[in-house]
Amino acid sequence: MKLDTSPIAAIATAPGRGGIGVVRASGKSLAPLLVALFPGATLAPRHATYLPFRQADGMVIDQGIAIYFKGPHSYTGEDVLELQGHGGPVVLQMLLARVLEAGAGAGLRLAEPGEFTRRAYLNDKLDLAQAEAVADLIDASTEAAARSATQSLSGEFSRTIHALVEQTTGLRMLVEATLDFPEEEIDFLEKSDARGQLAVIIASLEAVFQKAAQGALLREGLNVVLVGQPNVGKSSLLNALAGADVAIVTPVAGTTRDKVSETIQIEGIPLNIIDTAGIRVIDHAVDVVERIGIERTWLEVGKADVIMHLLDAGIGPARADEDIVAAFPEGIPVVRIWNKIDLSGHKASVDAQDDATHVYLSAQEHEGIDLLRAELLRIAGWQQTGESLFLARERHLIALRSARRHLELAAEHAAQSDQSLDLFAEELRLAQLQLSSITGEFSSDDLLGVIFSRFCIGK
Ligand code: GDP
Repeated sequence: MKLDTSPIAAIATAPGRGGIGVVRASGKSLAPLLVALFPGATLAPRHATYLPFRQADGMVIDQGIAIYFKGPHSYTGEDVLELQGHGGPVVLQMLLARVLEAGAGAGLRLAEPGEFTRRAYLNDKLDLAQAEAVADLIDASTEAAARSATQSLSGEFSRTIHALVEQTTGLRMLVEATLDFPEEEIDFLEKSDARGQLAVIIASLEAVFQKAAQGALLREGLNVVLVGQPNVGKSSLLNALAGADVAIVTPVAGTTRDKVSETIQIEGIPLNIIDTAGIRVIDHAVDVVERIGIERTWLEVGKADVIMHLLDAGIGPARADEDIVAAFPEGIPVVRIWNKIDLSGHKASVDAQDDATHVYLSAQEHEGIDLLRAELLRIAGWQQTGESLFLARERHLIALRSARRHLELAAEHAAQSDQSLDLFAEELRLAQLQLSSITGEFSSDDLLGVIFSRFCIGK
């Protein structure tokens, strides 16, 4: 990928009002920009300097702190200038406009989304998995997700992947060296314990995959559709499930007003809950507007990982419930929750049946809530290990799965009596390519474009 080194600038803090706001610039050399912005002043690298930010005509826009990072000792690896002013949208826009104007002669332009981090990657400050972790940390919706993102950002995930690449490369070298001496092929596998080495690599990869798959849960969460008639206790149940955690949960980005959606978390796993109040099976009596709303809700039901169907244990299913349940898409697990057992006299319990798992509880009395939580975690595939996890993306899981497949094929070649060493080596090479794509040692420009364009401007 060609590195565009023209200087860039953007507001780096979130839109809106805040105590401070930051305008950031990066470029191979920012010396001309510094001279234009702060004539007569010298900014010592990595020192905070308090000074006025002035327009070209000398009028003061704001008073603030300027910090200059001389490349390569900066986030992007280039020269970086950070101007910390007051965090108002207008004052920051004025400051950004001033920076763009002052740097115009040197070709300074507005940064594209993710361009600062992209430069950090291209200048070897971060690898690809770490760059993704920057976005994941910013987007984390739970504490557990934020912790895992930080771990990936620190390079823990990358180091683990790198170790796997090294092991695979080592074994491949050995096999390829043997290919040059065909007469020794026969007992090569025995002598070098190539099979044993391969088994060790596969086992390590499996462990990484487990951590990554669990981490992906922290990132993506579980899509839950909540179905139930009015007054069966849907709100009460959500409150009981969320417990004390609700305070640190942020709303899901992009949720529309007409779809009631909120996120709660169980052991750090976000549950994206879609309330289907008003859902019913479309028949002729439904008018156009309502039909649109209902169709949209059914679309959500189709994308769900689990359907929670709430019923009143004392009353049982209503006719409308039966119709809805009959219309559920096949293959999505259903948890039938019988609420208000304090009134009906049932005991709190879980009962797995063919059609669904039945959970008896009382949302109001907080009885049986743990059983439901455990059931949801089981459906999510969550295994509590207490170990730290990797906040993996789907892209990482696909690469890990593919690498595992190639290693297994390598093992099959090694197990055959007429061992084909060149096929063995080739599978190792393919596994190695897949693993390297995670950290970006081997990634196409297209992939980089997709990853960085999802960042917001200023990151
Ligand atoms: P929603 O309309 O489905 O969201 O139902 P709500 O959560 O608003 O609950 C409806 C009514 O049922 C409220 O008066 C709740 O206090 C009551 N309720 C909810 N869960 C229970 C329960 O487990 N036991 C009893 N006795 N009442 C409950």
